[in-house]
Amino acid sequence: MQKEILYSATKPTGKLTLGNYIGAIKNWSEMQENYNSIFCVADLHSLTINIDRQELKDNIYSQIATFLAFGLDPEKSIIYCQSHVKEHAELGWIMNCTTYFGEASRMTQFKDAKAKNKNISVGLFTYPMLMAADILLYDTNVVPVGIDQMQHVEICRDIATRFNAKYGETFAIPKGIVPKTGAKIMGLLDPTKKMAKSGDNDNDVIYIEDDNETIMRKFKRAVTDSLNRIKYCDEQPGVSNLLTIYSAMKKITIEQAEKEFEGCGYGDLKTRTAQAVIDVLSPVREKLNALKADKKYLEKIMAEGAEKARYLAKKKLNKVYKKVGLVTF
Ligand code: AMP
Repeated sequence: MQKEILYSATKPTGKLTLGNYIGAIKNWSEMQENYNSIFCVADLHSLTINIDRQELKDNIYSQIATFLAFGLDPEKSIIYCQSHVKEHAELGWIMNCTTYFGEASRMTQFKDAKAKNKNISVGLFTYPMLMAADILLYDTNVVPVGIDQMQHVEICRDIATRFNAKYGETFAIPKGIVPKTGAKIMGLLDPTKKMAKSGDNDNDVIYIEDDNETIMRKFKRAVTDSLNRIKYCDEQPGVSNLLTIYSAMKKITIEQAEKEFEGCGYGDLKTRTAQAVIDVLSPVREKLNALKADKKYLEKIMAEGAEKARYLAKKKLNKVYKKVGLVTF
């Protein structure tokens, strides 16, 4: 039986976090055996915010290296960078023209960004349409994402369904899937907000590239509460977040994690969670540093991945251009 197609991406707007790992990358490496997988560094999406050009470049190399260090295999999966396949931007335009202004205006990520910043780009508004193009170019069936991206997968499904109804069967309708545990990892200092690459305080975030001492120090400072019990519940966002991280690292359920910590104090919860994270990230970091030092190799991976992706993307874009009435030859 033909394997289904999986597509997922990270934005190189900053260094990858433990949230990116638990919400996305961890599942990618587990799923790549069962799907024809496509993993993308969505660099064009990074330009929606104001980002330093050298930092962007470093992040792109570093994210490709991270994918490889976590076991994504360029022999089995397509690993590439979005800007190397121009069809993304082209289909993005068609998606812009297939989306209603009203439905794009309802995207909560955009509304949040607009509420926080005075100067936001038009690109940030049209970001979900470019993301829809990313997904639809490859006849994607499944898109593993964290909860924060689920609304964008939903709008992608709506756009694809509308396009198919108007022009005839063109796109596969993708399904977003979130991990059972860790679909939204929260900040360590503010467990009511998502752990994000571009947070205001470095101590709120565990970066995949943090060294072991830094990881331990940040977890020791994690905000908990004064209830003095280790329970996963709404009243205890900090403790619940630590339990979530611990169970994701140990590949156990939250209930099992709660049992393991029965009778323990918060100090124990913090240091054992930190250690669980270190046990997973530390061996990967060594590989990651070696890969990052070999830019030529990373460029080779990107070039080969882009060639494979381009082959698929070109075919799909050509079909779309024909359907909408453009002249192709
Ligand atoms: P990004 O590059 O940050 O937009 O996200 C790449 C992937 O990581 C997406 O699937 C996100 O949903 C996921 N992700 C980002 N932050 C978190 C988080 N704090 N918890 C869980 N998943 C996340």
